[in-house]
Amino acid sequence: MKENLELAPRNGYRKISEEETGAVNSYASRYMDFLKNSRTERTTVANTIALLEKNGFTEYKKGMALNPGDRIYFNNRRRSLIASVIGEAPLDEGINIVASHVDSPRLDLRPNPLVQESGLALIRTHYYGWLRKYQWVSLPLMMTGVVYLEDGSRVDVSIGSEPGDPVLVVPDLLPHISQDQNKIPLSEAHKGDKMNILIASIPVPDAEETKAVKLQALRLLNEKYGITETDFASAELEIVPALDPRDVGLDRSLIGAYGQDDRVCAYAGLEALINLKTPKRTAVLLFADKEEVGNNGVSGARSMAFDYYIGLMCKATGSDREECYHNSFCLSGDVTSAFDPNYPDAFAGENTAFANGGIAVCKYTGFGGKEQASDAHAELLSYARGLFKKHGVIWQTAEMGRIDLGGGGTVALEFANRGIDTLDAGVAVLGMHSPFEVVSKLDCYMTFKAYQAVFEE
Ligand code: MN
Ligand code: MN
Repeated sequence: MKENLELAPRNGYRKISEEETGAVNSYASRYMDFLKNSRTERTTVANTIALLEKNGFTEYKKGMALNPGDRIYFNNRRRSLIASVIGEAPLDEGINIVASHVDSPRLDLRPNPLVQESGLALIRTHYYGWLRKYQWVSLPLMMTGVVYLEDGSRVDVSIGSEPGDPVLVVPDLLPHISQDQNKIPLSEAHKGDKMNILIASIPVPDAEETKAVKLQALRLLNEKYGITETDFASAELEIVPALDPRDVGLDRSLIGAYGQDDRVCAYAGLEALINLKTPKRTAVLLFADKEEVGNNGVSGARSMAFDYYIGLMCKATGSDREECYHNSFCLSGDVTSAFDPNYPDAFAGENTAFANGGIAVCKYTGFGGKEQASDAHAELLSYARGLFKKHGVIWQTAEMGRIDLGGGGTVALEFANRGIDTLDAGVAVLGMHSPFEVVSKLDCYMTFKAYQAVFEE
């Protein structure tokens, strides 16, 4: 009787075959390969475009005809992307969207970043997104991004990504003399304007030069990239952990890596879309930027750029965009928290997602009394349950943490506010927003299967 009435046991490994375990592991290694070189929104978009083109997708240009089976993408300022496989049904009848974000918490270089203090050259940063600053000190870091020169030409910068490259670091205070710092609350012990990165220590030979180490750093940057100090003003340089994705655990069942929020869901959607043959309804994959700072800006999920691209697709197929939205379904593919036995009181008990529990379905996100949440309606949950059952997807419900302890959001509300039925579902993460986030391989695979199911309906 018990098994007919109660929730099924959580651990997905009790429910899958040996064959499917093999599929879990091969999927995980493809994902880890992708993640290794996709640590920022720009590199993720560039690597995704390369993969899409290899799989028959072409960049859509305004006015091009669209027919069932066509595979297209839109590149939104190299930071955000929409890819689509056109379905048999007119877009008026609705589309199936999987929306994830490809930005992650990090340290950004400030517009005038380079200074010399006490004989060391330092780079000043401004942190991006919600991060616990104490986790970002004494950690090997890399710098990646673009610099535009005065003539408009672009220089791609990458320091610390290749084996043998030098890495960068924000040194932390030693325990021997940190008694004062130890008394400060964790959230205040490391100030944003003290997250300065060590970049050089040898002065240029000129003995008269007072900022000789800073000059040395500039000289080296100029030698390698042809850039000058003024060029930082038209640059986007991001500091991210110089750690490669690794298997975690003796059984290699987990993945540890930076930036899995939210590339773990983005990659699931990407592989699902690439595998897709001509679907019934048009499938749309969105990689959004700026989720970690509230979905604003031209490349964020709130931007009209999304409406513009969908509008172009509707025009090309003789459909109405609002009608299309009204009939569409969006799976907001974002991560949630996984239960951590070291901090049981922070979580929502049996309402928490667990590693190996399958894709985590979040009816609502938000803060306090569901503030800022797009609370999905029961009918939508019912649809998702049926879909997951039909496609053999292992799933669980999720809430981020204990009520009133904090909270979080996703891109879901941006699509729900457009009149699109939207549900949050993605991978549960241990240590989210840390330099080394941990996920379960089984959960990654179930998330891929779930997104595949969405596209195939
Ligand atoms: Mn996220
Ligand atoms: Mn996040």
